Amino acid sequence: MADRLRPLISARRIKKRVAELAAQISADHTDAPLTLVIVLKGATVFAADLMRRIATPFVIDFVRASSYGQAARSSGQVIVEDEARLDIAGHRVILVEDIVDTGLTAGALITALRRFEPASLDVCALLHKHVAGAAPVDIRYKGFDIPDEFVVGYGMDYAERYRNLPGVYRLTVAG
Ligand code: 5GP
Repeated sequence: MADRLRPLISARRIKKRVAELAAQISADHTDAPLTLVIVLKGATVFAADLMRRIATPFVIDFVRASSYGQAARSSGQVIVEDEARLDIAGHRVILVEDIVDTGLTAGALITALRRFEPASLDVCALLHKHVAGAAPVDIRYKGFDIPDEFVVGYGMDYAERYRNLPGVYRLTVAG
């Protein structure tokens, strides 16, 4: 049996919402240097669209965080990589994530980035999944709230597949 994909958020709706988020970010960051810290790999498509709509100057950098491996369920352990070389002291930082689910990844990244003493640190996430018992994360720039289902597309994968889909889809894995 093939994996089943059901549309959740169209490319058109994403485009409109990304432009709104970028306008909000631009309006909020007219003063100090802004750094977008993009979480690899799932946030890359979102970040690429978002940054092309931000009107104020900014620099970008990347971090890695892994908790899922090849599975569709969180392992509960978050490994943060590549944060040591970030140059963000005194910068206004926005952490750009694809999806906040249990909140563990965002929490671990926030703790890791705070050590560098940025002037401000906010979270921008395309999606916020509503999961019972999740760690609360303050998402200042949020694209969409979604139900507790596994999603792919627009950069988000299942075992490295489906990142190329232009919209967001719910995935039911075959087997
Ligand atoms: P959290 O630590 O909040 O549970 O999970 C955050 C990370 O897990 C996301 O950045 C993403 O990489 C992955 N993740 C969580 N839910 C989903 C989902 O529904 N689909 C995909 N493709 N990845 C997810």
